[in-house]
Amino acid sequence: MSPKSALKAKPEPAPSKATSRPALLLAWYDRHRRRLPWRAGPGQASDPYRVWLSEIMLQQTTVKAVGPYFEKFVARWPDVTALGRASQDDVLRMWAGLGYYSRARNLYACAVAVTGEHGGVFPDTEEDLRALPGIGPYTAAAIAAIAFDRRTMPVDGNIERVVSRLFAVEEELPQAKPLIQQLAATLLADSRAGDSAQALMDLGASICTPKKPACSLCPFNEDCIAHAQGTQETFPRKAPKKSGTLRRGAAFVVTRGDELLVRTRPEKGLLGGMTEVPGSDWVAGQDDATAKRRAPELKGLSRWQRKVGVVTHVFTHFPLELVVYTAKAEARTRAPEGMRWVPTATLAGEALPNVMRKVIARALNLPPGRSS
Ligand code: SF4
Repeated sequence: MSPKSALKAKPEPAPSKATSRPALLLAWYDRHRRRLPWRAGPGQASDPYRVWLSEIMLQQTTVKAVGPYFEKFVARWPDVTALGRASQDDVLRMWAGLGYYSRARNLYACAVAVTGEHGGVFPDTEEDLRALPGIGPYTAAAIAAIAFDRRTMPVDGNIERVVSRLFAVEEELPQAKPLIQQLAATLLADSRAGDSAQALMDLGASICTPKKPACSLCPFNEDCIAHAQGTQETFPRKAPKKSGTLRRGAAFVVTRGDELLVRTRPEKGLLGGMTEVPGSDWVAGQDDATAKRRAPELKGLSRWQRKVGVVTHVFTHFPLELVVYTAKAEARTRAPEGMRWVPTATLAGEALPNVMRKVIARALNLPPGRSS
């Protein structure tokens, strides 16, 4: 294959070394695999529960961030049946801080389904796995390959990067996904499918990194097209990102002695079921005066104080700016309907999303990252 060839539609016939790629990859993995809390040791069978839990947690989240959450979950709920018998509130509380909270609700729904409909045993085919809540095509393939050694290649961001460089895929993401999927499948060994997938994930995470890939250490460096061209960092090709429109709103932090006024967000929608301080809707172009009209009304409340600046947060589809107001309520002031007082000392146990942690930290003058 010429280094200049651009793969746009069908994978070209494999180059002369292609037959050895899966073997090269596995040999590299056997020497350099990452030790991860959810990963079985060499030659050991994988636990589908741990594979599933880690794959859900790792969606849009780094290995470093997931590690402590994974350990907490398996310590409290050592198998899927235990998780399926927990309460959703407890699961959301344990998940708080990890972001993308619909994953936590789906995680719980999936555990309930596996416990109730499958006798506590995960199905072992991609098709049956995809029928479970929160398990999309990628996660189904990852669980099928890693936990059940099904011959399938899950393609995550790391694998997309390695494959698009190795074959110099000129087509832009996301249109290039089917082609990358086909090319990635050529890297599967005849057996040890799960190890082939994990090897590519590890290669992408540790060697074929977005910036400055360590090509001299890569098992594919002799026939990687991007490496030969010196164009590694330009792959994968991506269509320019459209960022969402900025939304604006207000958050109201009311304290009553050592307590804080909170409410629970509606079950459906963004941050569903999570805890928040009262606030306005989050709307593009909203002015401060309109947002402030949504302040909760309590008897005997001090004047609202506006904190300097705004709290910013970036969701997947839009950035957000919140103006933070604070006020003090008198002792024994009742919470408005649908709200409740919680001691600030126990806020860490609430299912507070990161944006609310930032709001509370700003309101109470806590260091960033602390909400209690
Ligand atoms: S040779 Fe370099 S660019 Fe090619 S797959 Fe390996 S690390 Fe990535």
